[in-house]
Amino acid sequence: MTDSLHIVGGGMAGSEAAWQAAEMGVDVVIHEMRPKVGTFAHQTGNLAEMVCSNSFRSDDDEQNAVGLLHWEMRAAGGLIMSSADAHRLPAGGALAVDRDPFAETVTNRLRNHPRISVTEEEVTDLPKDGQWIFATGPLTSPALGEAIRHQTGADSLAFFDAIAPIVYADTIDMRRAWLQSRYDKGETEEERTAYINCPMDRDQYEAFIDALLAADKTEFHEGETATYFDGCLPIEVMAERGRETLRHGPMKPVGLTNPHQPDVKPYAVVQLRRDNALGTLYNIVGFQTKMKYGAQTSVFRMIPGLEEAGFARLGGIHRNTFINSPTLLDSQMRLRSRPNIRFAGQITGVEGYVESAAMGLLAGRFAAAEMLGRDIAEVPHDSAMGALIHHITGGADAKTFQPMNVNFGLFRPVDGLKGGRRGRKDRYKAYTDRAKAAWNDWLSHS
Ligand SMILES: Cc1cc2nc3c(=O)[nH]c(=O)nc-3n(C[C@H](O)[C@H](O)[C@H](O)COP(=O)(O)OP(=O)(O)OC[C@H]3O[C@@H](n4cnc5c(N)ncnc54)[C@H](O)[C@@H]3O)c2cc1C
Repeated sequence: MTDSLHIVGGGMAGSEAAWQAAEMGVDVVIHEMRPKVGTFAHQTGNLAEMVCSNSFRSDDDEQNAVGLLHWEMRAAGGLIMSSADAHRLPAGGALAVDRDPFAETVTNRLRNHPRISVTEEEVTDLPKDGQWIFATGPLTSPALGEAIRHQTGADSLAFFDAIAPIVYADTIDMRRAWLQSRYDKGETEEERTAYINCPMDRDQYEAFIDALLAADKTEFHEGETATYFDGCLPIEVMAERGRETLRHGPMKPVGLTNPHQPDVKPYAVVQLRRDNALGTLYNIVGFQTKMKYGAQTSVFRMIPGLEEAGFARLGGIHRNTFINSPTLLDSQMRLRSRPNIRFAGQITGVEGYVESAAMGLLAGRFAAAEMLGRDIAEVPHDSAMGALIHHITGGADAKTFQPMNVNFGLFRPVDGLKGGRRGRKDRYKAYTDRAKAAWNDWLSHS
Protein backbone atom coordinates (compact mmCIF):
# COMPACT_ATOMS: atom_id res chain seq x y z
CA MET A 1 0.00 0.00 0.00
CA THR A 2 2.67 2.52 1.00
CA ASP A 3 4.95 1.66 -1.96
CA SER A 4 2.47 2.72 -4.59
CA LEU A 5 1.15 6.15 -5.39
CA HIS A 6 -2.63 6.17 -4.98
CA ILE A 7 -4.60 8.48 -7.22
CA VAL A 8 -8.26 9.05 -6.51
CA GLY A 9 -10.22 10.04 -9.61
CA GLY A 10 -9.29 9.04 -13.14
CA GLY A 11 -10.42 12.20 -14.90
CA MET A 12 -8.21 14.68 -16.76
CA ALA A 13 -5.95 15.35 -13.79
CA GLY A 14 -5.80 11.87 -12.27
CA SER A 15 -5.06 10.24 -15.64
CA GLU A 16 -2.22 12.64 -16.40
CA ALA A 17 -0.81 12.36 -12.86
CA ALA A 18 -0.81 8.55 -13.10
CA TRP A 19 0.95 8.60 -16.46
CA GLN A 20 3.66 11.01 -15.36
CA ALA A 21 4.39 9.18 -12.11
CA ALA A 22 4.44 5.76 -13.79
CA GLU A 23 6.76 7.02 -16.53
CA MET A 24 9.10 8.23 -13.80
CA GLY A 25 9.22 4.69 -12.36
CA VAL A 26 6.61 4.69 -9.61
CA ASP A 27 3.85 2.10 -9.24
CA VAL A 28 0.41 3.69 -9.36
CA VAL A 29 -3.08 2.63 -8.33
CA ILE A 30 -5.94 4.67 -9.77
CA HIS A 31 -9.14 4.54 -7.71
CA GLU A 32 -12.03 5.55 -9.95
CA MET A 33 -15.61 5.27 -8.75
CA ARG A 34 -17.22 5.11 -12.19
CA PRO A 35 -18.98 3.14 -13.54
CA LYS A 36 -20.08 1.77 -10.14
CA VAL A 37 -20.92 5.23 -8.80
CA GLY A 38 -21.86 7.86 -11.37
CA THR A 39 -22.15 11.66 -11.51
CA PHE A 40 -24.86 13.71 -13.18
CA ALA A 41 -22.48 14.71 -15.98
CA HIS A 42 -20.38 11.63 -16.79
CA GLN A 43 -21.90 9.10 -19.21
CA THR A 44 -19.33 6.29 -19.41
CA GLY A 45 -16.88 4.30 -17.32
CA ASN A 46 -13.92 5.62 -19.33
CA LEU A 47 -11.09 7.49 -17.74
CA ALA A 48 -10.60 11.12 -18.89
CA GLU A 49 -14.18 11.51 -20.05
CA MET A 50 -14.96 14.98 -21.44
CA VAL A 51 -18.19 15.87 -19.67
CA CYS A 52 -19.40 18.67 -21.91
CA SER A 53 -17.70 20.45 -24.82
CA ASN A 54 -15.19 18.48 -26.91
CA SER A 55 -12.75 21.39 -27.14
CA PHE A 56 -9.34 21.89 -25.59
CA ARG A 57 -9.65 25.51 -26.77
CA SER A 58 -6.96 27.40 -28.69
CA ASP A 59 -3.93 25.48 -29.91
CA ASP A 60 -1.95 28.65 -30.67
CA ASP A 61 1.21 28.37 -28.59
CA GLU A 62 2.51 31.82 -29.55
CA GLN A 63 -0.48 34.05 -28.90
CA ASN A 64 -2.68 32.16 -26.47
CA ALA A 65 -2.04 31.04 -22.89
CA VAL A 66 -4.02 27.80 -23.17
CA GLY A 67 -2.21 26.96 -26.43
CA LEU A 68 1.03 27.52 -24.53
CA LEU A 69 -0.14 25.08 -21.86
CA HIS A 70 -0.75 22.50 -24.64
CA TRP A 71 2.81 23.08 -25.81
CA GLU A 72 4.27 22.65 -22.33
CA MET A 73 2.31 19.44 -21.72
CA ARG A 74 3.41 18.02 -25.06
CA ALA A 75 7.01 18.86 -24.20
CA ALA A 76 6.55 16.93 -20.94
CA GLY A 77 5.27 13.83 -22.75
CA GLY A 78 1.71 14.37 -21.54
CA LEU A 79 -0.77 11.54 -22.09
CA ILE A 80 -3.79 13.82 -22.35
CA MET A 81 -2.20 15.90 -25.10
CA SER A 82 -0.84 12.97 -27.11
CA SER A 83 -4.26 11.27 -26.97
CA ALA A 84 -6.00 14.53 -27.94
CA ASP A 85 -3.61 14.98 -30.86
CA ALA A 86 -4.31 11.41 -32.00
CA HIS A 87 -8.06 12.14 -32.16
CA ARG A 88 -8.03 15.71 -33.33
CA LEU A 89 -11.04 17.02 -35.30
CA PRO A 90 -10.94 19.93 -37.73
CA ALA A 91 -11.73 23.10 -35.75
CA GLY A 92 -9.66 25.98 -37.15
CA GLY A 93 -7.19 27.18 -34.54
CA ALA A 94 -8.83 25.22 -31.74
CA LEU A 95 -7.99 21.71 -30.61
CA ALA A 96 -11.28 19.81 -30.83
CA VAL A 97 -11.28 16.13 -29.96
CA ASP A 98 -13.30 13.07 -30.92
CA ARG A 99 -14.32 12.44 -27.33
CA ASP A 100 -15.03 8.69 -27.17
CA PRO A 101 -11.90 7.45 -28.98
CA PHE A 102 -9.90 10.02 -27.01
CA ALA A 103 -11.12 8.68 -23.64
CA GLU A 104 -10.74 5.07 -24.84
CA THR A 105 -7.13 5.77 -25.82
CA VAL A 106 -6.34 7.30 -22.43
CA THR A 107 -8.06 4.40 -20.66
CA ASN A 108 -6.25 1.72 -22.67
CA ARG A 109 -2.84 3.32 -22.33
CA LEU A 110 -3.25 3.61 -18.57
CA ARG A 111 -4.71 0.13 -18.10
CA ASN A 112 -1.95 -1.40 -20.27
CA HIS A 113 0.89 0.43 -18.52
CA PRO A 114 2.99 -2.11 -16.56
CA ARG A 115 3.19 0.18 -13.53
CA ILE A 116 -0.48 1.19 -13.38
CA SER A 117 -3.52 -0.63 -12.05
CA VAL A 118 -7.07 0.66 -11.87
CA THR A 119 -9.58 -0.20 -9.16
CA GLU A 120 -13.22 0.71 -9.55
CA GLU A 121 -14.15 2.04 -6.14
CA GLU A 122 -15.29 5.18 -4.43
CA VAL A 123 -12.83 6.51 -1.85
CA THR A 124 -14.60 8.22 1.02
CA ASP A 125 -11.87 9.37 3.38
CA LEU A 126 -8.39 10.89 3.44
CA PRO A 127 -5.95 8.13 4.46
CA LYS A 128 -3.29 8.89 7.05
CA ASP A 129 -0.62 6.69 5.42
CA GLY A 130 0.85 6.36 1.97
CA GLN A 131 1.17 8.85 -0.86
CA TRP A 132 -2.13 10.01 -2.30
CA ILE A 133 -3.32 12.44 -4.95
CA PHE A 134 -6.98 13.46 -4.84
CA ALA A 135 -8.14 14.48 -8.29
CA THR A 136 -11.86 13.98 -7.90
CA GLY A 137 -12.89 17.06 -9.80
CA PRO A 138 -15.86 19.41 -9.72
CA LEU A 139 -18.25 16.51 -9.01
CA THR A 140 -16.36 14.94 -6.13
CA SER A 141 -18.66 12.36 -4.51
CA PRO A 142 -20.62 13.71 -1.54
CA ALA A 143 -19.08 11.29 1.00
CA LEU A 144 -15.55 12.28 0.03
CA GLY A 145 -16.56 15.97 -0.06
CA GLU A 146 -17.68 15.60 3.53
CA ALA A 147 -14.33 14.01 4.52
CA ILE A 148 -12.41 16.83 2.83
CA ARG A 149 -14.60 19.39 4.52
CA HIS A 150 -13.93 17.72 7.87
CA GLN A 151 -10.16 17.90 7.30
CA THR A 152 -9.96 21.41 5.81
CA GLY A 153 -12.76 23.24 7.62
CA ALA A 154 -16.14 24.28 6.29
CA ASP A 155 -14.98 27.62 4.87
CA SER A 156 -12.24 26.02 2.81
CA LEU A 157 -14.40 23.85 0.55
CA ALA A 158 -16.96 25.22 -1.88
CA PHE A 159 -19.65 23.30 -3.76
CA PHE A 160 -20.51 26.04 -6.26
CA ASP A 161 -18.31 28.62 -7.86
CA ALA A 162 -19.54 32.20 -8.26
CA ILE A 163 -17.18 33.74 -10.74
CA ALA A 164 -17.18 37.45 -11.43
CA PRO A 165 -15.60 38.50 -14.73
CA ILE A 166 -11.89 39.30 -14.58
CA VAL A 167 -10.48 42.17 -16.62
CA TYR A 168 -6.89 42.82 -17.72
CA ALA A 169 -5.86 45.92 -15.77
CA ASP A 170 -4.14 47.52 -18.73
CA THR A 171 -7.35 47.51 -20.78
CA ILE A 172 -9.27 49.69 -18.30
CA ASP A 173 -9.59 53.32 -19.39
CA MET A 174 -8.29 55.26 -16.40
CA ARG A 175 -9.31 58.55 -18.05
CA ARG A 176 -12.84 57.55 -17.02
CA ALA A 177 -12.19 55.28 -14.04
CA TRP A 178 -10.27 56.06 -10.86
CA LEU A 179 -8.59 54.35 -7.92
CA GLN A 180 -10.27 54.66 -4.52
CA SER A 181 -11.56 52.45 -1.72
CA ARG A 182 -15.01 53.31 -0.42
CA TYR A 183 -14.72 56.10 2.21
CA ASP A 184 -10.94 55.99 1.59
CA LYS A 185 -10.75 53.15 4.07
CA GLY A 186 -7.38 51.56 4.78
CA GLU A 187 -4.18 52.08 6.72
CA THR A 188 -1.89 52.46 3.71
CA GLU A 189 -2.11 54.35 0.43
CA GLU A 190 -2.29 50.97 -1.32
CA GLU A 191 -5.37 50.00 0.71
CA ARG A 192 -7.00 53.41 0.24
CA THR A 193 -6.68 52.96 -3.52
CA ALA A 194 -7.43 49.25 -3.70
CA TYR A 195 -10.42 49.50 -6.07
CA ILE A 196 -10.92 50.77 -9.59
CA ASN A 197 -14.22 52.66 -9.87
CA CYS A 198 -16.29 53.13 -13.00
CA PRO A 199 -19.04 55.79 -12.72
CA MET A 200 -22.47 55.75 -14.38
CA ASP A 201 -25.00 58.52 -14.80
CA ARG A 202 -28.72 57.78 -14.63
CA ASP A 203 -29.17 57.11 -18.38
CA GLN A 204 -26.17 54.80 -18.47
CA TYR A 205 -27.47 52.90 -15.44
CA GLU A 206 -30.98 52.47 -16.91
CA ALA A 207 -29.54 51.27 -20.23
CA PHE A 208 -27.28 48.85 -18.37
CA ILE A 209 -30.22 47.38 -16.41
CA ASP A 210 -32.22 46.99 -19.66
CA ALA A 211 -29.28 45.14 -21.23
CA LEU A 212 -28.90 42.84 -18.22
CA LEU A 213 -32.57 41.94 -18.27
CA ALA A 214 -32.57 41.29 -22.01
CA ALA A 215 -29.30 39.29 -22.16
CA ASP A 216 -29.25 35.58 -23.03
CA LYS A 217 -28.65 33.44 -19.95
CA THR A 218 -27.41 29.87 -19.56
CA GLU A 219 -29.39 27.32 -17.62
CA PHE A 220 -27.99 24.95 -15.04
CA HIS A 221 -27.29 21.50 -16.46
CA GLU A 222 -29.84 18.83 -15.75
CA GLY A 223 -29.20 17.51 -12.24
CA GLU A 224 -27.08 20.54 -11.38
CA THR A 225 -29.56 22.18 -9.09
CA ALA A 226 -28.51 25.21 -7.14
CA THR A 227 -29.97 27.23 -4.37
CA TYR A 228 -28.63 30.73 -4.68
CA PHE A 229 -27.21 32.18 -1.54
CA ASP A 230 -28.06 35.81 -1.10
CA GLY A 231 -24.34 36.63 -0.94
CA CYS A 232 -23.70 35.42 -4.50
CA LEU A 233 -26.85 36.05 -6.51
CA PRO A 234 -26.22 36.42 -10.23
CA ILE A 235 -26.22 40.09 -11.14
CA GLU A 236 -29.12 39.65 -13.58
CA VAL A 237 -31.22 37.99 -10.86
CA MET A 238 -30.57 41.00 -8.65
CA ALA A 239 -31.70 43.25 -11.51
CA GLU A 240 -34.86 41.15 -11.93
CA ARG A 241 -35.72 41.79 -8.29
CA GLY A 242 -35.99 45.51 -8.96
CA ARG A 243 -34.31 48.16 -11.11
CA GLU A 244 -32.82 49.84 -8.05
CA THR A 245 -31.48 46.68 -6.40
CA LEU A 246 -28.01 46.93 -7.92
CA ARG A 247 -27.71 50.62 -7.07
CA HIS A 248 -28.24 49.65 -3.44
CA GLY A 249 -26.00 46.59 -3.74
CA PRO A 250 -22.72 46.10 -5.61
CA MET A 251 -23.20 49.30 -7.67
CA LYS A 252 -23.89 51.68 -4.81
CA PRO A 253 -22.21 55.04 -5.40
CA VAL A 254 -21.62 56.06 -1.78
CA GLY A 255 -18.25 56.98 -0.28
CA LEU A 256 -16.66 57.63 -3.65
CA THR A 257 -15.64 60.84 -5.42
CA ASN A 258 -14.81 60.89 -9.11
CA PRO A 259 -11.63 62.98 -9.49
CA HIS A 260 -12.38 63.49 -13.20
CA GLN A 261 -15.68 65.22 -12.31
CA PRO A 262 -15.55 66.00 -8.57
CA ASP A 263 -18.78 68.07 -8.65
CA VAL A 264 -20.90 65.35 -10.28
CA LYS A 265 -22.25 62.63 -8.01
CA PRO A 266 -22.29 59.32 -9.93
CA TYR A 267 -25.70 57.64 -10.06
CA ALA A 268 -24.08 54.22 -9.71
CA VAL A 269 -20.49 52.92 -9.53
CA VAL A 270 -19.08 49.60 -10.70
CA GLN A 271 -16.09 48.57 -8.60
CA LEU A 272 -13.21 46.32 -9.64
CA ARG A 273 -10.92 44.70 -7.10
CA ARG A 274 -7.38 43.52 -7.62
CA ASP A 275 -7.38 39.78 -8.29
CA ASN A 276 -3.70 38.81 -8.18
CA ALA A 277 -0.53 39.87 -6.43
CA LEU A 278 0.95 41.16 -9.70
CA GLY A 279 -1.90 43.68 -10.05
CA THR A 280 -2.47 42.72 -13.68
CA LEU A 281 -6.01 41.39 -13.14
CA TYR A 282 -9.13 42.98 -11.60
CA ASN A 283 -12.47 41.31 -10.91
CA ILE A 284 -15.77 43.17 -11.19
CA VAL A 285 -17.04 43.05 -7.63
CA GLY A 286 -20.34 41.22 -7.14
CA PHE A 287 -20.84 40.58 -10.87
CA GLN A 288 -21.15 36.78 -10.83
CA THR A 289 -23.53 35.90 -13.63
CA LYS A 290 -25.26 33.22 -15.69
CA MET A 291 -25.30 35.41 -18.82
CA LYS A 292 -23.93 33.74 -21.94
CA TYR A 293 -20.35 34.68 -22.75
CA GLY A 294 -21.19 36.73 -25.86
CA ALA A 295 -23.80 38.69 -23.92
CA GLN A 296 -21.40 39.33 -21.05
CA THR A 297 -18.81 40.93 -23.28
CA SER A 298 -21.24 43.36 -24.83
CA VAL A 299 -23.09 44.17 -21.59
CA PHE A 300 -19.93 44.73 -19.52
CA ARG A 301 -18.36 46.92 -22.21
CA MET A 302 -21.27 49.33 -21.63
CA ILE A 303 -19.61 50.23 -18.31
CA PRO A 304 -17.75 53.54 -18.63
CA GLY A 305 -14.03 52.77 -18.53
CA LEU A 306 -14.54 49.20 -19.75
CA GLU A 307 -15.44 50.04 -23.36
CA GLU A 308 -12.22 48.40 -24.54
CA ALA A 309 -11.93 45.86 -21.72
CA GLY A 310 -10.13 42.60 -22.36
CA PHE A 311 -11.50 39.76 -20.26
CA ALA A 312 -9.09 37.24 -18.74
CA ARG A 313 -12.18 35.22 -17.88
CA LEU A 314 -15.91 35.75 -18.01
CA GLY A 315 -18.32 35.17 -15.16
CA GLY A 316 -20.22 32.04 -14.26
CA ILE A 317 -21.91 29.99 -11.58
CA HIS A 318 -21.54 26.22 -11.70
CA ARG A 319 -21.71 23.16 -9.56
CA ASN A 320 -18.04 22.93 -8.66
CA THR A 321 -16.29 21.39 -5.68
CA PHE A 322 -13.02 23.17 -4.97
CA ILE A 323 -10.76 23.86 -2.03
CA ASN A 324 -9.14 27.10 -0.93
CA SER A 325 -5.74 26.17 -2.35
CA PRO A 326 -3.93 29.42 -1.41
CA THR A 327 -4.39 28.59 2.27
CA LEU A 328 -4.47 24.79 2.20
CA LEU A 329 -1.76 23.70 -0.24
CA ASP A 330 1.99 24.15 -0.29
CA SER A 331 3.89 24.89 -3.50
CA GLN A 332 4.00 21.15 -4.32
CA MET A 333 0.23 20.81 -3.95
CA ARG A 334 0.50 18.95 -0.62
CA LEU A 335 -2.15 19.53 1.98
CA ARG A 336 -0.27 21.48 4.65
CA SER A 337 -2.14 19.69 7.44
CA ARG A 338 -1.55 16.21 5.88
CA PRO A 339 1.48 16.28 3.59
CA ASN A 340 0.97 12.68 2.42
CA ILE A 341 -2.02 14.01 0.48
CA ARG A 342 -1.89 16.10 -2.64
CA PHE A 343 -4.73 17.62 -4.60
CA ALA A 344 -4.80 18.04 -8.36
CA GLY A 345 -7.13 19.17 -11.11
CA GLN A 346 -10.24 21.24 -10.92
CA ILE A 347 -10.66 20.64 -7.18
CA THR A 348 -7.57 22.84 -6.64
CA GLY A 349 -9.34 25.85 -8.15
CA VAL A 350 -8.23 25.74 -11.76
CA GLU A 351 -10.89 25.42 -14.39
CA GLY A 352 -11.06 23.53 -17.66
CA TYR A 353 -9.92 20.22 -19.10
CA VAL A 354 -6.48 21.57 -20.03
CA GLU A 355 -5.73 23.37 -16.78
CA SER A 356 -6.90 20.34 -14.79
CA ALA A 357 -4.69 17.97 -16.76
CA ALA A 358 -1.80 20.41 -16.32
CA MET A 359 -2.15 20.40 -12.54
CA GLY A 360 -2.34 16.60 -12.68
CA LEU A 361 0.91 16.53 -14.61
CA LEU A 362 2.66 18.56 -11.92
CA ALA A 363 1.14 16.64 -9.00
CA GLY A 364 2.18 13.32 -10.56
CA ARG A 365 5.74 14.51 -11.04
CA PHE A 366 5.96 16.03 -7.54
CA ALA A 367 4.65 12.87 -5.87
CA ALA A 368 6.91 10.57 -7.90
CA ALA A 369 9.99 12.70 -7.19
CA GLU A 370 9.23 12.61 -3.48
CA MET A 371 8.75 8.84 -3.50
CA LEU A 372 11.99 8.34 -5.44
CA GLY A 373 13.91 10.66 -3.10
CA ARG A 374 14.68 13.11 -5.91
CA ASP A 375 14.75 16.88 -5.55
CA ILE A 376 12.52 18.78 -7.89
CA ALA A 377 13.06 22.46 -8.63
CA GLU A 378 10.32 25.03 -8.22
CA VAL A 379 8.20 25.27 -11.37
CA PRO A 380 9.35 28.44 -13.18
CA HIS A 381 6.93 31.35 -12.69
CA ASP A 382 7.40 32.36 -16.31
CA SER A 383 6.00 29.12 -17.74
CA ALA A 384 2.22 28.67 -18.15
CA MET A 385 2.37 25.76 -15.71
CA GLY A 386 4.22 27.94 -13.23
CA ALA A 387 1.92 30.93 -13.66
CA LEU A 388 -1.08 28.74 -12.90
CA ILE A 389 0.31 26.77 -9.94
CA HIS A 390 1.80 29.87 -8.32
CA HIS A 391 -1.53 31.63 -8.70
CA ILE A 392 -3.54 28.91 -6.97
CA THR A 393 -0.98 28.17 -4.26
CA GLY A 394 -0.04 31.74 -3.42
CA GLY A 395 -0.66 34.55 -5.92
CA ALA A 396 -4.45 34.55 -5.65
CA ASP A 397 -6.29 36.36 -2.90
CA ALA A 398 -7.36 33.58 -0.51
CA LYS A 399 -10.38 35.52 0.77
CA THR A 400 -12.01 35.83 -2.63
CA PHE A 401 -10.50 32.73 -4.23
CA GLN A 402 -12.49 31.44 -7.22
CA PRO A 403 -11.51 29.03 -9.99
CA MET A 404 -9.15 30.35 -12.65
CA ASN A 405 -8.34 29.60 -16.28
CA VAL A 406 -4.81 30.06 -17.53
CA ASN A 407 -4.36 33.55 -19.05
CA PHE A 408 -1.58 36.04 -19.71
CA GLY A 409 -2.70 38.20 -16.80
CA LEU A 410 -1.10 35.59 -14.54
CA PHE A 411 2.32 36.19 -16.11
CA ARG A 412 4.97 38.60 -14.87
CA PRO A 413 5.22 41.50 -17.31
CA VAL A 414 8.11 41.45 -19.78
CA ASP A 415 10.15 44.63 -19.32
CA GLY A 416 10.28 47.20 -22.08
CA LEU A 417 7.18 46.12 -23.98
CA LYS A 418 4.21 48.31 -24.81
CA GLY A 419 1.08 47.76 -22.67
CA GLY A 420 -2.55 47.93 -23.87
CA ARG A 421 -4.16 46.41 -26.92
CA ARG A 422 -1.65 47.78 -29.43
CA GLY A 423 1.34 45.97 -27.97
CA ARG A 424 -0.56 42.74 -27.38
CA LYS A 425 0.85 40.64 -30.21
CA ASP A 426 4.49 41.39 -29.35
CA ARG A 427 3.78 40.99 -25.65
CA TYR A 428 2.15 37.58 -26.02
CA LYS A 429 4.96 36.37 -28.25
CA ALA A 430 7.48 37.54 -25.65
CA TYR A 431 5.55 35.73 -22.89
CA THR A 432 5.38 32.49 -24.85
CA ASP A 433 9.04 32.58 -25.92
CA ARG A 434 10.12 33.20 -22.34
CA ALA A 435 7.78 30.49 -21.04
CA LYS A 436 9.02 27.84 -23.46
CA ALA A 437 12.67 28.48 -22.55
CA ALA A 438 11.87 28.36 -18.81
CA TRP A 439 9.79 25.19 -19.15
CA ASN A 440 12.38 23.36 -21.24
CA ASP A 441 15.02 24.29 -18.70
CA TRP A 442 12.86 22.96 -15.85
CA LEU A 443 12.13 19.73 -17.72
CA SER A 444 15.80 19.15 -18.39
CA HIS A 445 16.52 19.36 -14.63
CA SER A 446 13.62 17.27 -13.32
C1 LIG B 1 -21.46 20.00 -16.05
C2 LIG B 1 -20.04 20.36 -16.33
C3 LIG B 1 -19.67 20.81 -17.58
C4 LIG B 1 -18.34 21.15 -17.86
N1 LIG B 1 -17.99 21.56 -19.10
C5 LIG B 1 -16.69 21.82 -19.40
C6 LIG B 1 -16.29 22.18 -20.72
O1 LIG B 1 -17.10 22.25 -21.62
N2 LIG B 1 -14.98 22.42 -20.95
C7 LIG B 1 -14.04 22.33 -19.98
O2 LIG B 1 -12.84 22.57 -20.26
N3 LIG B 1 -14.38 22.00 -18.73
C8 LIG B 1 -15.68 21.73 -18.41
N4 LIG B 1 -16.06 21.38 -17.15
C9 LIG B 1 -15.03 21.31 -16.15
C10 LIG B 1 -14.43 19.91 -16.30
O3 LIG B 1 -15.19 19.00 -15.58
C11 LIG B 1 -13.05 19.93 -15.81
O4 LIG B 1 -12.35 20.92 -16.49
C12 LIG B 1 -12.26 18.64 -15.92
O5 LIG B 1 -13.00 17.50 -16.26
C13 LIG B 1 -11.68 18.51 -14.57
O6 LIG B 1 -10.77 17.48 -14.54
P1 LIG B 1 -10.56 16.73 -13.18
O7 LIG B 1 -9.65 15.60 -13.46
O8 LIG B 1 -10.19 17.67 -12.12
O9 LIG B 1 -12.02 16.17 -12.83
P2 LIG B 1 -12.87 15.08 -13.65
O10 LIG B 1 -12.45 15.02 -15.06
O11 LIG B 1 -14.30 15.32 -13.31
O12 LIG B 1 -12.40 13.71 -12.97
C14 LIG B 1 -12.67 13.43 -11.64
C15 LIG B 1 -12.88 11.94 -11.51
O13 LIG B 1 -12.99 11.60 -10.13
C16 LIG B 1 -14.00 10.63 -9.98
N5 LIG B 1 -14.43 10.67 -8.58
C17 LIG B 1 -15.14 11.64 -7.94
N6 LIG B 1 -15.26 11.35 -6.62
C18 LIG B 1 -14.62 10.16 -6.42
C19 LIG B 1 -14.40 9.36 -5.28
N7 LIG B 1 -14.86 9.69 -4.08
N8 LIG B 1 -13.72 8.20 -5.42
C20 LIG B 1 -13.24 7.82 -6.65
N9 LIG B 1 -13.43 8.55 -7.77
C21 LIG B 1 -14.10 9.73 -7.66
C22 LIG B 1 -15.04 11.01 -11.01
O14 LIG B 1 -15.83 9.92 -11.37
C23 LIG B 1 -14.18 11.49 -12.17
O15 LIG B 1 -13.87 10.48 -13.07
C24 LIG B 1 -17.37 21.04 -16.84
C25 LIG B 1 -17.75 20.59 -15.58
C26 LIG B 1 -19.06 20.25 -15.31
C27 LIG B 1 -19.43 19.77 -13.94
